[in-house]
Formats: sequence, C-alpha cells, structure tokens
Amino acid sequence: MNATKLIKTKDAAANNDAPNKATTKDYDVIIVGAGAGGVFASYELCKNGYKGKVLVIDRGAPLERRNCPIKLGKTPKCIRCNPCHIMNGYGGAGTLSDGKYNITTEFGGDLHKVVGYDKAMEMMEYVDSVLCSMGGSEARLYSTADTDLKTKCLQNNLHLLSAKVRHLGTDRNIKILHNMYDYVTPQIEFEFYTACETIDLLGGGGFLLHTNKGDYTCEKLVMATGRSGSKWIGGVCSKFDIPQEKNRVDIGVRVELPAEVFKAITDDVYESKIVYKTDRYNDMVRTFCMNPYGHVVSENTNGIITVNGHSYADPKLHSENTNFALLVTNKFTEPFDDSNEYGESIARLSNMLGGGVLLQRFGDLEKGRRSSARRMEKCFTRPTLEATPGDLSLVIPKRQLDSIIEMIYALDKIAPGTANEDTLLYGVEVKFYNSKVPVDENMQTKIPNLYAIGDGSGLTHSLSQASASGVILARHIMDK
Ligand SMILES: Cc1cc2nc3c(=O)[nH]c(=O)nc-3n(C[C@H](O)[C@H](O)[C@H](O)COP(=O)(O)OP(=O)(O)OC[C@H]3O[C@@H](n4cnc5c(N)ncnc54)[C@H](O)[C@@H]3O)c2cc1C
Repeated sequence: MNATKLIKTKDAAANNDAPNKATTKDYDVIIVGAGAGGVFASYELCKNGYKGKVLVIDRGAPLERRNCPIKLGKTPKCIRCNPCHIMNGYGGAGTLSDGKYNITTEFGGDLHKVVGYDKAMEMMEYVDSVLCSMGGSEARLYSTADTDLKTKCLQNNLHLLSAKVRHLGTDRNIKILHNMYDYVTPQIEFEFYTACETIDLLGGGGFLLHTNKGDYTCEKLVMATGRSGSKWIGGVCSKFDIPQEKNRVDIGVRVELPAEVFKAITDDVYESKIVYKTDRYNDMVRTFCMNPYGHVVSENTNGIITVNGHSYADPKLHSENTNFALLVTNKFTEPFDDSNEYGESIARLSNMLGGGVLLQRFGDLEKGRRSSARRMEKCFTRPTLEATPGDLSLVIPKRQLDSIIEMIYALDKIAPGTANEDTLLYGVEVKFYNSKVPVDENMQTKIPNLYAIGDGSGLTHSLSQASASGVILARHIMDK
C-alpha cells in the first residue's frame, strides 16, 4: 500500500501531512461501523476464508459493554450518553432492538432497486439462515401469507404489506451477535471507541483514515455507519463530490396500549405493517415496528432524543403492553428539500417542551388538553417509559396529527380498543433516512474501492436489508 502521497480533494489542502508510516496501521479492508451491515460483511468475508487483513472500527462500545442507563434502571430518562448505547457499538442500532428480521422488499429499504428483486430476497433468506445457524432457529418465523388479516384490513380501508418476519427478541439477538463475534474474531480485528473523523485518498490508490485513535490505511473502504453516522457520511460524500439524493422523513408517535387489544393480530403475524390513506389529506400513515409485550425506549440520534420500542423473547421480561409507531411520510422538494432538518426541528421542539420524550393520553389529545401527572395517575394503561406528560399538539404539526388521529380510528375497527382514551402516545417518533448515496450492484460508489452499505447508504432501512447489503459487498470483495 502506498501510504506516502495524498490526493488533494476539496479540503485536503488543509491537511498536507503525508501519513507517518511508523504510526499508521495498514489493512486490505476497513469497515467503518459494526452494525448489521458491518457484522454481516465481516462474517461473510471470514466464512469464505478471505486472506486479506480486515479491520472493523466502531465509535461505540463492544457488545458486553453496551448498556443503556435507562435499561439498567440507573436513570429514568435519557442522559444523552456519548456515544449512545442504543445506536452505537457492536451490532449497531440493531443490538438492543427487538431483532425483527423482515424478509420483504415491500418495506425496509430499496435494496431490490439496485441488486434486483430475486437477489435481494435471496440475500435476506441467506441472512435468515445465518441467524438460525448462530442461535436463532428456535425463534418463530411469522408470515402474512398464512393469515386472513389482509382481508380484514381491506374491508376497513387498511392495507397489510406482505412479509415474513423472524422475531429474535432483544435477548436472543444479543446471544446471536456474541456468537457471530466469536466466529469472526480469530480472523478479523475490531477497534471500539474509535470514530472515523475524515478520509483522504492516497496517491497510489487506497484510503487514509483519520480517527480519534490514530491513522489507518486500507485498499478498500466500507462505509457502514448507519443512521447515527448520517452527518459523517454526508461529509465524506461532499468531500469526494459524490452526489447524494435527499430522502424522506417519517414523523409520528409511538402508541402503547394493553397487549390484549392487538393480541389477535400479534399472535397471528407478530409484526403487521398496515398502511392507510387519510380521507382528509390523502396522506399515507403506516404502522411501524410493532412490539407485543414490549417496552418503549428513547433513542439519541445526533443529540436529538426521539422514541422507539423493542421487546424480549423471554416471557419473564414481557410487559403488559404492546407498542408500535404510527408514522406519516414527508418529502420536500423545493425551495426546501432537507426532510431530515424538518424532522429534527420537530423533535427538537418536543425535547424543548418535554426535556426529552413527551407523553399524552389519546383522550387528552382528543379533548385538546395536556396530560398531566395527575391525569396520568388515573390512567389504566401503565407507561413502560418514564416520559414527560404534555401536549403533542404543541409539537406535531396539525396535518400529521390529524392523520395520526384518523389512523387510530381506522385501526380501532380491526383492533377495538385502539382509540380508547387511555391509549398512550409518545412523541415524537422520527424515522430519519440517510440521503441516498449512489452505489452499483456491488455497493461500490463512484470512487473505486469505496463502498457504502446498510442504512448509511440510504438504500436500506432495516436489519435484514442492511445485513444483506453487507453479504453482497463481501462476496464482491471475494470475487475481486
Ligand atoms: C431502538 C431500535 C429498534 C429497531 N428495531 C428494528 C427491528 O426490530 N427490525 C429492523 O429491521 N430494524 C430495526 N431498527 C433499525 C435497524 O436497527 C437498522 O436498520 C440497522 O441497524 C441498520 O444497520 P447498519 O449496519 O446500516 O447501521 P447501524 O446498525 O446503525 O450501525 C452503524 C454503526 O456505525 C457506527 N458509526 C457511525 N458513525 C461512525 C464513525 N464516524 N466512526 C466509527 N463508527 C461509526 C455506529 O456506532 C454504529 O454502531 C431499529 C432501530 C432502533 C434504533
């Protein structure tokens, strides 16, 4: 590897120092980000006996150190750990998640648009087989194909998307990740608490990475930095003149209600992705990330606190509630096209009013009044996340809030009780999607040997598709 000459990119003039060979560590492949994409890329390289030197770096913690203080009961509210354990570290945002691997192209990303439908499905099935071989085989595989829920939805103007889903549960998911780490570590190196700051192109080909722990060089560089690395990957793209296409943002609330209300549905399909077109605005609202007997959690993306949910496979860790998101899709074109900035502004407003996540009873929202601590005391549904009782109508724009309320009444027809006044709404839930980085069918950007996989590429938004993109990348490197 020629580590002596830098190619000047836009801002390389400010960084004229050639890397010091004595302190720079050289690799054939460096993967930045140990989330689902990075985990599966490293697994596939290892499994196929890749002979090169591979390093995976992540700014978060190793698996055994990943503990959200809220989950440990050390604090009731998000204390903005840096880096956030929910989003960063081995396994990425998937580690403390519910571990729902959806095998579908109907949602969860657009991988099929780049690699084709058959290959996308084949890769997701392969990911599922690896998960099973690593300890997931006892987790049930649900399918919308074996259910009459679709008919019931259609009869009520709702649309159920088709998918198979393997629900691992947070606990089993973590065990599988341990097994995958043990499998690859004899061959693949990992550096945690290591954040990639900038990248330079080297004169003889390859890349020089500047991190908080020193410099590294490699021939092939894989950007697998997920949603939490959105600003970083945006910086890399603008440095190397890689055009990014702005994505949409989904804004909404996390709904929490007694598990009995959705039991018939969750027993049948576990996760139902249901889409509804509102009468009032023609807007699309959808259910997202359903967690039977689950827990609502807060998450920290680039310093902004939003809400999410997960559940455990172990019944001893079940709550009495089911939670899911209701999201309204927003995409802007001109003169303003930064959908993420729009979503961040709304989340910041909620953080300003609630100091983090806001919580409101559906009945209070309908009556146009805030939920207060006193009203929450009389609430039959017990919240699984300690959030600030407040008024979501002061935060979420009217259009999105009207759409969410309309959807709650639509869902009430297939799951009576959804529109109960004690149904809890947490806000805001924002799904940020990274701007799309143009990649070819091997996940390669226009810069040779620079790859973008997983959610960081803007192409995937789910565990299955992010993992599948890692497998595709690894097989391409093997072929090369
Ligand atoms: C609470 C929660 C629950 C979820 N539940 C589900 C679910 O059940 N099913 C599903 O399909 N999806 C779920 N998702 C989404 C899913 O986790 C992501 O789609 C998936 O993790 C994307 O994988 P990835 O590898 O692309 O990125 P990530 O998993 O986000 O991993 C990226 C990694 O890159 C690291 N990183 C970022 N920037 C840098 C940098 N500059 N230097 C070094 N390292 C860096 C981060 O620390 C992180 O570990 C959930 C997400 C959350 C937050």
